Amino acid sequence: MFNALKTRIQQGYHTMAYPDGPAPVLSERFVGMPTVDSSMCPEYCTSCMHDCPSGAVFRDTVSGEIRIDTGRCVFCRSCEAACPNGAIRFTREFQLAACCREDLKPGLLRPFMSFHTKFSEDP
Ligand code: SF4
Ligand code: SF4
Repeated sequence: MFNALKTRIQQGYHTMAYPDGPAPVLSERFVGMPTVDSSMCPEYCTSCMHDCPSGAVFRDTVSGEIRIDTGRCVFCRSCEAACPNGAIRFTREFQLAACCREDLKPGLLRPFMSFHTKFSEDP
């Protein structure tokens, strides 16, 4: 027990003063906020939605838009790989926290997460 405490004291702080301090050093494999250039989306393309393993890519039943729900996203990048047009890109934006579940849904309080592709009907 004493050795464990001594080692822990020697390690020092592992927290940081962020956001007042420097930004954290991210792993090369870090995957952050997704973005989509919907201007590259053909009208009937659904490749990203069909390849998403968690149901995070979904069709808004009211607007017909395809969106990413980052509350469900496991950041596997399958949608990015499935996209034939390179419209999906995962950034290294790491500030993904939200105060409530609804804030994680695109097109609400965090419009930069919007993923707009209009569909008139399923292919
Ligand atoms: S990264 Fe994976 S889980 Fe997230 S929206 Fe894309 S396919 Fe779905
Ligand atoms: S993001 Fe890519 S896969 Fe998804 S609808 Fe647009 S073009 Fe198709």
